[in-house]
Amino acid sequence: MASKASNKDPSKASSTARPSKALIKAIGRADLDRLRTVLHHICQNSEEANESVEEDLLMTDLYVGKSGRMKVKRQFSRYEECLRCRSEFDVTENDDLACTYHYGSLDVWDDFWADHDEDVHGTIDTDKMRENFPDGFVYSCCGESANANGCVYGRHEEEKDVEPRQQKRFKWQ
Ligand SMILES: [Zn+2]
Ligand SMILES: [Zn+2]
Repeated sequence: MASKASNKDPSKASSTARPSKALIKAIGRADLDRLRTVLHHICQNSEEANESVEEDLLMTDLYVGKSGRMKVKRQFSRYEECLRCRSEFDVTENDDLACTYHYGSLDVWDDFWADHDEDVHGTIDTDKMRENFPDGFVYSCCGESANANGCVYGRHEEEKDVEPRQQKRFKWQ
């Protein structure tokens, strides 16, 4: 099984474009959902753009077919979001030291909230509060606050795609 990320041969490019300054600025300002929509649109409308985006975002496992020719076994995303640290990582560069994360749970630190009445001031344990008051929460693994770097090393963990047949079995059990 050979994984490869092929770089496009520049001599094959049939046309090059030079985006205007205004376009570069607009790309910088658009949000992620809008850029995704635009990219989908480009891939649907241009074979060349589709190939180029595949080369940037996909990995391909190849095998030697009966004819002796290389065939595509499967294609998968080159970049994934780690379930542990929530950052994007390159699946070709994932090893035991790639990720730092907390293996414990993030708990409310009562001392910090001594004067906080939830009925008056609102719920303590929400995503927004964790973000705004990191010192009010501690990890059970190391006692560090919510914004502390991970306390152990490991591989980035990616979401596994579930095959349709497996999904069915889960439902029936
Ligand atoms: Zn920790
Ligand atoms: Zn990670």
